[in-house]
Amino acid sequence: MTTPSQSTPAPAQLLDSFGRRLHYLRLSITDLCNLRCRYCMPPEGIEKLPQDMVLTLEELARVSRIAVGLGVDKIRLTGGEPLLRKGLSRLLDELKSLKPRPDLRITTNGLLLAQKLPELVAGGVSTVNVSLDSLKPELYGQITGLGAQAGHEALAKVWQGIRAALDEPSLQVKLNVVLLGGVNEEEIVDFARLTLEHPLAVRFIEYMPVGRNTPFQPERFLAAEQVLQRIRSLGEVEPLPQRPGDGPAQRLRLAGAPGELGVISALSSHFCATCNRIRLSSEGQVVPCLLSDVAVELKPLLRGGADDAAVAKALLEAARLKPRNHHQAVVSPHAAGCQMSRLGG
Ligand code: SAM
Ligand code: SF4
Repeated sequence: MTTPSQSTPAPAQLLDSFGRRLHYLRLSITDLCNLRCRYCMPPEGIEKLPQDMVLTLEELARVSRIAVGLGVDKIRLTGGEPLLRKGLSRLLDELKSLKPRPDLRITTNGLLLAQKLPELVAGGVSTVNVSLDSLKPELYGQITGLGAQAGHEALAKVWQGIRAALDEPSLQVKLNVVLLGGVNEEEIVDFARLTLEHPLAVRFIEYMPVGRNTPFQPERFLAAEQVLQRIRSLGEVEPLPQRPGDGPAQRLRLAGAPGELGVISALSSHFCATCNRIRLSSEGQVVPCLLSDVAVELKPLLRGGADDAAVAKALLEAARLKPRNHHQAVVSPHAAGCQMSRLGG
């Protein structure tokens, strides 16, 4: 007689060589973007990929289904600007029907958020992260490459999207703020104060050396500890407990605030030991670490008639190749191999 465990082997999980379970998939669903943030893209933009190089909606959905079968329970749509992807609601419908249903999230620059919000809500998205690096229209325009003049209208649109998202009871709203020393660091307290007014999470993100076409400027790097000092200048700050799956954010709350703060120190304190992420680029590369060059090509399999088991094997191989730590440093950064806007942040 066989026991149940003998007859039904445990399904394979995306495990790396150091015992970390990779259950958080970040899908870059387009390389296109309507902004040129200075830390992400060169001012002239990057060459658009030929359409047939980019994974189709069916391919994105298929890889997601196979990844869910390997234990992925959280999928973030990113890009480029994911709200530019045609057929987004069709993709969301596919993802929300996966079993078990993954937690669906999206990271957007927010320009099209007000317009696309109904699709996100209908598509079962639980959390919207809006990337916003300045509350000052002209500086916003400068950071995003729109120019100071156009910054006013663009920032107003982003805020319209954020307000609409805050009005959606089913959505959690987070703001991602990449800090650049000498550029937006004076706004740390203004962003933190937003959490006193709104039930949103503001997450300060260390500037990282990613992207071959955007040379890292070490003098702009602002370490998490400096950010924390500025936050503490606002008054009593209470640390919040880390929840399973919280990832790398150190969570805090200003006394009495409905919202919360997060500080993400990718470079100054390695959070690699708890990393649970794996990424799929818009061109179909599985990338187990944002800050290293390791990648496994899926497109030849997807377009060469490979069955699901072969695609699963490639995902398992990419997980196995995840490095223990990244080797990026602030002092002598090597730009990581992949363009951020194709890979997704
Ligand atoms: N376009 C969308 C957006 O901006 O939210 C999604 C893609 S973007 C590549 C994802 C995230 O990566 C954004 O929050 C962005 O600020 C972040 N990012 C891009 N380049 C970065 C860098 N050099 N250092 C830190 N974060 C970066
Ligand atoms: Fe900015 Fe996101 Fe576009 Fe990069 S992909 S330029 S971070 S909006």
